[in-house]
Amino acid sequence: MVIGVLALQGGFREHIAVLERCGVKAKEIRKKEELDGIDGLIIPGGESTTFGRLMVDFGLLDPLVNLIKGGLPVFGTCAGLVVLCREIVGSEQPRLGVLNARVRRNAFGRQVDSFEADLEVPVLGPEPFRGVFIRAPYIEELWPPAEVLATLEGKIVAARQDKILVTAFHPELTTDERFHRYFIGMVSG
Ligand code: GLN
Repeated sequence: MVIGVLALQGGFREHIAVLERCGVKAKEIRKKEELDGIDGLIIPGGESTTFGRLMVDFGLLDPLVNLIKGGLPVFGTCAGLVVLCREIVGSEQPRLGVLNARVRRNAFGRQVDSFEADLEVPVLGPEPFRGVFIRAPYIEELWPPAEVLATLEGKIVAARQDKILVTAFHPELTTDERFHRYFIGMVSG
C-alpha cells in the first residue's frame, strides 16, 4: 500500500511521519504524474486558498477530482477539509468540491487562533481523541451520504462520505494514530 501526501504546501511531513509509524509507505505528491500508483491520498493542513491556486497551477485539480470521484480514498485535515468541500462560506476559491458539505473557514474566532479539545469519536472507540485546532474551520451543514463523525460544541469537526474522510483538527500533531489507522482501514477495506 502506498499513500500519497499532497506536498505543495503545509504540514505534509507530519502526516508522512505518522504513516511511517503505522508501517505504511508514504509518497510526496507535487505533480500529476506522481499520482500514478497511489492507493489513497492525504491533503494536509496549510492554507486552503494557496492549495487551490497551486492545484490549478500544477494541473492537479481535475485529475484529483476524477480520481476521488472514481473512488480514491482521501483524508483531508483542516485546510485539506476546506478544499474537499463543495461550498465554502463567502469564498469562490478553487476547490475539489467532492464532499457534500458547506464549510466555514477560520470559524472558531480570531481571538482563539488555536486550542485543544477532547472529542468523542464513536468510530474510534470510547477513548476521547485530542483535537488540535489551528485557525480551524468547521462544517456548517452536511448532506447525505456524508455523515458526522465528531462534533465540538455542536459544530461538525469530523466527517466521512464513503471514501472521503475529513477532520477540522490536526491528528498528525498528536501521538494518537487512530485517525490515520482508520483511514488506512478505508484504503485497504
Ligand atoms: N484557516 C486555514 C484555511 O482556511 C486552515 C488552517 C490550517 O490548515 N491549520 O486554509
